[in-house]
Amino acid sequence: MTGTTDPSLPDFEAWFHQAPSGYLITDDIGRITAVNDTFLHWTGHSRPNLLGSKLQDLMPVGDQILYSTHCIPQLGITGAVSEIVIEIIGADNERRAALLSASRSPASGQDHGNVRVIIFSAHERRMYERELVTALRVAEESEARRARAEKELHHLALHDALTGLLNRAGLEATLEQFLTPPPGDTNAIAALFIDLDHFKAVNDSLGHAAGDELLVSVARRLLPTTRRNSTVARLSGDEFIVLETVAGPQEATALAARLLAILKAPMLIQGLEIVTSASIGVAIAEKDGESIEELIRRADIAMYRAKALGRSRWELHIPAESDPSVDRLRALGELRHGINDGALRVHYQPRIDLHTGHTVGVEALVRWQHPTRGLLPPSEFIGMAEESGLIRSLGAWVLQETLKQAERWYQEDSNSAKLEYAVNLSARQLNDPGLVHMVEDALRRRKVDPSRLLLEITETALMSDPEAALESLTRLKDVGVSLAVDDFGTGYSSLTYLKKFPVDELKIDRSFITGLNSNTGDTAIVGSCIDLAHAVGIRAVAEGVETSEQAQTLTSMGCDLAQGFHFARPLPAPLLAAWLHASTQQRQDTHKPGP
Ligand code: C2E
Ligand code: CA
Ligand code: CA
Repeated sequence: MTGTTDPSLPDFEAWFHQAPSGYLITDDIGRITAVNDTFLHWTGHSRPNLLGSKLQDLMPVGDQILYSTHCIPQLGITGAVSEIVIEIIGADNERRAALLSASRSPASGQDHGNVRVIIFSAHERRMYERELVTALRVAEESEARRARAEKELHHLALHDALTGLLNRAGLEATLEQFLTPPPGDTNAIAALFIDLDHFKAVNDSLGHAAGDELLVSVARRLLPTTRRNSTVARLSGDEFIVLETVAGPQEATALAARLLAILKAPMLIQGLEIVTSASIGVAIAEKDGESIEELIRRADIAMYRAKALGRSRWELHIPAESDPSVDRLRALGELRHGINDGALRVHYQPRIDLHTGHTVGVEALVRWQHPTRGLLPPSEFIGMAEESGLIRSLGAWVLQETLKQAERWYQEDSNSAKLEYAVNLSARQLNDPGLVHMVEDALRRRKVDPSRLLLEITETALMSDPEAALESLTRLKDVGVSLAVDDFGTGYSSLTYLKKFPVDELKIDRSFITGLNSNTGDTAIVGSCIDLAHAVGIRAVAEGVETSEQAQTLTSMGCDLAQGFHFARPLPAPLLAAWLHASTQQRQDTHKPGP
C-alpha cells in the first residue's frame, strides 16, 4: 500500500489494516499482493502464507467454482461484485461463512503503474447477520419502529441497492403470483433476459460511476414499459429480467422489440450523450409447470444467441434447444459433485521390470463412475477438470486414494512394500503453488515412504515453461519423491533441459511403441529414447506394450520397465491384488525344480 500525500485524506495504510472488514488486494491474475490485519486475525493465516497464493485456494471446491464461474467473469464485465456468500477456510481448517465483495481498479492507477488490482473485502457473514438482528432488537422498543425496520430489512434483502429493482432473491419471492395463475387462465409466462451490449466499454472508458448511472437509467426505462402483472429484476451486473404474462410468443417478442427500441434512445450519463443497445433472449414457460430457474436459463441461452448473431436484437428460445456452454457448466457441476460424493475410482496398471519380469510398481489411472453414463475414462473429464481448476481437488483425491491403497496393500502383504506408485500430475497442478504442500500432506497422512511415490508429468507440460517446471520439480524432488517425464517424444524437450530436470525416468510415448518392429522410424526413435535416458543416467520405460514381440524387442534394446495390455490392463484395486498374487505364484512355479 502506498501512503497518500493529500493531507485532507486519511492515512489509508492504517485504515486498511484496522478496517472492520477483511481486505485483500490481488493482481489481475488473482495472486494476493496485500492483506490486512483484520483478515489475518479472522482466518488465523499468516501474511507470508497468503502473499503470492490465490484467493480461491482459501475456498472449498464448491465455492472455487462459484468464484471462477461467477465472480471472475462478473468482475471482468462490470468491474465489481458485491456480497457473494462464500466460505473461507481458515488456518485451523475450519470454514468461515463470508460475504465477499470486490472491485477492480481502473487500468492505469498511478499507484500500480499499468497493473490492474482487485480489492476484495470479506466480512464474517455471522457478523452481518448479527448486525441485522441488533437492528431488529433496537427497533423493538417501539412497535412502529420495529415494523418499519423489518420492512426495510425485507426490502433491502429483496432489492438491488443500485437500481431499486428486485434482485434475484426478490424475483424468486414474487414468483408466486406467476406460478399460480387463476383457474381457466390461458396466458403463458414469458421471461425476457436483457443484457446490455458493450457495457464493459462504458465502465472502462467512463468509470464505474458512469456505469452505475447507466444501469439506473436502464432500470428507469424498463419499469414503465411493463404492466401490472409483471416483474422487472436486475440479476447481476448488466443483466436484467422482465417476467410478463402474455397470450403467446408473438406478444412476448413484440415486447422485446419495444424494449430494444426504448433502450436505444440516447441517455445522458455524466453530461455525455450515450447510445446503448441490448441483446434480449425470450423464453415462454412450458405448459407443464416449468421451474422459473429453467425458464430463465432458457431465456439466457436465447440471449447468448442474440449476442452471437450480432447483438442489439432479440431471439426466441425454442424448447429442447441446448447450448454448449450450458451443457459444459452442467457437466462441470456433475463432476464437482462426483468428486465430493466419491464417484471417482482409481484403477492400477502394473509396471514390469523387463530384466527380471517382476512387477515393480503400478500406475494410478483415474475413472469417473458417472450416474447415467457409466464408467468414464479420463479423456472424458480431465480436460474439463483442468480448464475449470477442479483438477486441484481431483488430483489431490487421486494421490490420497493411491497412498491409502498403498498402505492397505502393505498391511495385507508386506511383499508389496517395495512397489512404486505412479500418479499423474497435470500441467495446471505443476504450476499450483500449493502442490508441494499437498504432496507432503498426503504422504504424511499415510506414512508411505516418499521414494515409493513417482509423479508423472507430461513432456508437453514441462516444456511449456521449462524454467518454472525446473523450479517445481526441484521442490518436489526435495520432498523425496521420484519423478517421470510422461509421453516422452511428443513435446520437443531439449537435451539441455533433460539433463537439468531432476527426473528419474523417461516414459516413451505409446505411439512409438505401437510402431515398434513394423515402422523403422518408430523403432529408431524408441532406441534413441532408451539411449538418451541412459545417457543422462535415468531409466527408460515403455508404455502401451500390447504384444510379446514388442516386449522382447524392448528387452533386447535395454529398456528398463514396461507397462501395457500385454501384461495387464488397468485394474480396480481388488483385481490388481489378485493379479499380483497370481503372477508371483506363476513365477514361483516356473522356478521350482521339476519333479
Ligand atoms: P497416460 O498417463 O499416458 O496413461 C496411460 C494410458 O494408456 C492409460 O489410459 C492406459 O489405460 C492406457 N494404456 C495402457 N496400456 C495400454 C496399451 O497397451 N494399449 C493401449 N491402447 N492403451 C494403454 P487412460 O487410463 O485412459 O488415461 C489416459 C490419460 O489420462 C493418461 O495418460 C493420463 O494422461 C490421464 N490421466 C489418467 N489418470 C489421471 C490422473 O489421476 N490425473 C491426471 N492429471 N491425469 C490422469
Ligand atoms: Ca502417465
Ligand atoms: Ca503416457
